[in-house]
Amino acid sequence: MKKKQIAILGSTGSIGTQALQVIEEQADRYEVYAITANNRVELLIEQARKFQPEVVVIANEAKYEQLRDALADLPIKVYTGAQALCEVVQAEPIDIVLTAMVGFAGLPPTMSAIRARKAIALANKETLVVAGELINELAQQYNVPILPVDSEHSAIFQCLTGEIGNPIEKILLTASGGPFRSCTMEELAHVTKAQALKHPNWAMGAKITIDSASMMNKGFEVIEAKWLFGVRPDQIEVLVHPQSVIHSAVQFEDGAVKAQLGVPDMRLPIQYAFSYPDRLKASFDRLDLFQIRDLTFERPDLERFRCLALAFESLNRGGNMPCIVNAANEVVNRAFLEDQIPFLKMAEVIEQAMGKVSFIQKPTYEDYLATDAETRRVAAELIK
Ligand code: NAD
Ligand code: MG
Repeated sequence: MKKKQIAILGSTGSIGTQALQVIEEQADRYEVYAITANNRVELLIEQARKFQPEVVVIANEAKYEQLRDALADLPIKVYTGAQALCEVVQAEPIDIVLTAMVGFAGLPPTMSAIRARKAIALANKETLVVAGELINELAQQYNVPILPVDSEHSAIFQCLTGEIGNPIEKILLTASGGPFRSCTMEELAHVTKAQALKHPNWAMGAKITIDSASMMNKGFEVIEAKWLFGVRPDQIEVLVHPQSVIHSAVQFEDGAVKAQLGVPDMRLPIQYAFSYPDRLKASFDRLDLFQIRDLTFERPDLERFRCLALAFESLNRGGNMPCIVNAANEVVNRAFLEDQIPFLKMAEVIEQAMGKVSFIQKPTYEDYLATDAETRRVAAELIK
């Protein structure tokens, strides 16, 4: 069997490193063709020496020489810059591109990979939040599958296998509720970065961990679900489920509800995106329901977790509004991580940005670039 060639955008991150573990365990099926990172050049060098890809890219040009010199003894092509990401994903032998980089920066290389007819294993949810309609049109035009890696969307995708032609009545999108699930408004006003970075169930990159604490992550996942599964916003119900055992569920028109359960381990959804429609034997921990015992559910509180409400609102407004929310969120997320603003200020700035940035009902790709840039300026100004 010919091994599937995989390109990983963001190989040094939380998703990227777990993807490499999957490839290592399934070495008879998958091979690393390209790995890329932004800053963590030492880890990237280590990964390159171990997996011997054809191509390595470091987006940050200041780190290029260090990377090139460290790999000089190997027959590996080394490139740098954001444009190089768009080029390497088009290499002929690549079968699957895993988009595991953070933020709006994932949009251009994802579009480039679709144009080269690569299957997309999509972790970078911001791409769909910003430009879901555009990505869907492009994927349809080039006949390319978008395979979800986000655990909730993988769960929904798994529930939908064997259901072709059976409409979804409702999606039950589960959320852990994050570290501040039971905090009062007064407490939320004073929570710290260190507390926000301690997610109860998942170990993830810093940006998504903060988004989980504010529940903007769940808001983004609602938008992601709309574009992946073609449902209306009112067909998506968010359930706070602190145990993170039910990764999400689908309700069909006969009332049947199918769910996917498991331990919180991103390697399973990553592997399923690679192997779909097959399931591969894997060494991941097994779920022990006797040990878990209780599965509980609460409605999300849209007042305490204003970001979730703003994401729903942006989806209902449509156009470039989700792009505005995403860009403003990238700015406030970083500002909170750098101790520049308190926790609740994040939603405040996003909401103000939604009212200030020019609204476009039918944005083009160029409009998204312009909206992203304008929103970053506006949000930075609002933080000052
Ligand atoms: P991370 O911060 O751990 O890793 C990000 C990776 O992307 C790193 O390799 C980094 O070098 C690279 N990168 C960042 N900015 C870049 C840029 N501008 N140009 C090029 N490369 C860049 O992040 P993560 O937690 O692995 O998340 C990656 C994506 O997957 C995010 O979109 C996130 O929302 C999504 N996701 C993550 C998880 C998770 O469990 N970590 C779960 C679901 C979805
Ligand atoms: Mg998720």
